[in-house]
Amino acid sequence: MENEVNSKNFIETIIEKDLAEGKCTEICTRFPPEPNGYLHIGHAKSILLNYGLAKKYGGKFNMRFDDTNPTKEKLEFVESIQEDIRWLGAKWDETLFASNYFPQMYESAVKLIKKGKAYVSDLSAEQIREYRGTLTEPGKEDPSVNRSVEENLALFEDMKNGKFADGEKVLRARIDMASPNMNMRDPVIYRVAHMTHHNTGDDWCIYPMYDFAHPIEDAIEGITHSICTLEFEDHRPLYDWVVMELGYKNEPEGHPRQIEFAKLYLKNIVTGKRYIKKLVEEGIVDGWDDPRLVSISGLRRRGFTPESIQMFVDLGGISKANSTSDYAMLEYCIREDLKVKRPRVMAVLDPVKVIIDNYPEGQIEMLSVPNNQENEDLGSREVPFGREIYIEREDFMEEPPKKYFRMFPGNEVRLMNAYFVKCVDFKKDADGKVTEIHCTYDPASKGGNSPDGRKVKGTIHWVAAETAKEVTVRLYENIIDEEKGVYNEDGSLNLNPNSLVELSHCLVEPSLADAKAYESFQFVRNGFFCVDYKDSTENHPVFNRIVSLKSSFKLPKQEA
Ligand code: ATP
Ligand code: MG
Repeated sequence: MENEVNSKNFIETIIEKDLAEGKCTEICTRFPPEPNGYLHIGHAKSILLNYGLAKKYGGKFNMRFDDTNPTKEKLEFVESIQEDIRWLGAKWDETLFASNYFPQMYESAVKLIKKGKAYVSDLSAEQIREYRGTLTEPGKEDPSVNRSVEENLALFEDMKNGKFADGEKVLRARIDMASPNMNMRDPVIYRVAHMTHHNTGDDWCIYPMYDFAHPIEDAIEGITHSICTLEFEDHRPLYDWVVMELGYKNEPEGHPRQIEFAKLYLKNIVTGKRYIKKLVEEGIVDGWDDPRLVSISGLRRRGFTPESIQMFVDLGGISKANSTSDYAMLEYCIREDLKVKRPRVMAVLDPVKVIIDNYPEGQIEMLSVPNNQENEDLGSREVPFGREIYIEREDFMEEPPKKYFRMFPGNEVRLMNAYFVKCVDFKKDADGKVTEIHCTYDPASKGGNSPDGRKVKGTIHWVAAETAKEVTVRLYENIIDEEKGVYNEDGSLNLNPNSLVELSHCLVEPSLADAKAYESFQFVRNGFFCVDYKDSTENHPVFNRIVSLKSSFKLPKQEA
């Protein structure tokens, strides 16, 4: 019983009450992005929340472009947004554009004027701010507040017909200049803006403000629960005012209603659309889908899965209080998702050659290796082994420190899935860089199994020289220098110069030759990697490291 209560978030509690009280028979939610950029992980939270609720309660989920502000909206964004939502797995019922309701919004404004609830103002934006007062002082009445309905109707029509320049006139709702809620002090609901709109072209030169448009959009579509983020809490009285004054409240009963939840914030990560856009426009990243970004397309390109993002959103929960999540939790989720799903293969990122002196020259043998020890369903593959192999440079040391169990002169180690080998010699170049290591192997240790109970402490991975395939590997760090935090004092971003390291001579086993875009693998000991869709060529795949294998993240203890 207690568990059941715990597993329900506060929005579900509200919905269940509304359904039980007959306030609605079917719920309808929406995701209302402004098409002025690509979506990011925060939007994913909102999408999965809205979609998840509609699915859970057998209701509807709409995709609505909130495109009432013509300045920054573009078709490119309309398309990318749909692609991202589709990829996340959220299926929507209708694709809608708020701009298609401009005629109804105009009529709604006329209705308010006729009720004496809206008036045309001559004040400039600056004057309006001045007249609004402060949190401690009431505002001053607009000198135009007592215009007659006829005059207001005529002026509003003139606004619509292009008789005024931008900013010359606005339409204000008549509410309460002394309200303790600043949003209720006669807010502007329509403005003049001679701009071309991506959907309606030059049909309009007046555009509704968000606080007026949004409740109308919700009401027209029959949205029952309009979920938005916390910063709109103070706007809710205005939302309700618009709904009530326009007579929407009774059809359907008591809806739409606005519900706020806390935004997703990631510690030391650039999330805001505005900031991501800046990185893109300044060419600091390779487009909106740069794998270092937490844009949905960036996460997809990096190799995150929709399942991992869903898990991340579920773990974070839905709350009324702002908090910050760790990127490490997102990393935890992708590791959990890929751990048993994807094959574990061998790739050497920084290769040094090893020659096994007593292994027959020219011989290549195929070793059968399970694809994933934790998931038999993934089967096995044949991995070639030969006299010359490559290992990681860091897996050999001439003079090992204590507790170094990998390869060093005289030490025996296990080559993963292959044989025990003992280092007998090595060569260095003039700079002291190791160029070649010599070993002998024990043929009786095939498969990496001890032939006589003797133990080796280190197990290292390798690839056979003759059949190895050269690939590029990209390693990532946070684009922000975490020591210094996201922003400098002047508001600029603290960039990390090491956020991308490209290794262009990595060697992988031949099974990876045919890896396709977005395919992902565990490279044993090195992490999870995904084939970059953009920069890979037929003969030379590029692998993005999604995440390393080491985790600093601990799952919070669940309440019993
Ligand atoms: P940004 O804050 O990045 O500029 P935005 O709020 O301007 O994004 P919109 O297109 O207006 O982006 O948002 C679409 C929907 O996504 C809104 O309902 C908004 O509340 C929600 N949303 C945006 N950012 C987050 C976030 N960080 N966490 C949860 N929901 C979010
Ligand atoms: Mg916004």
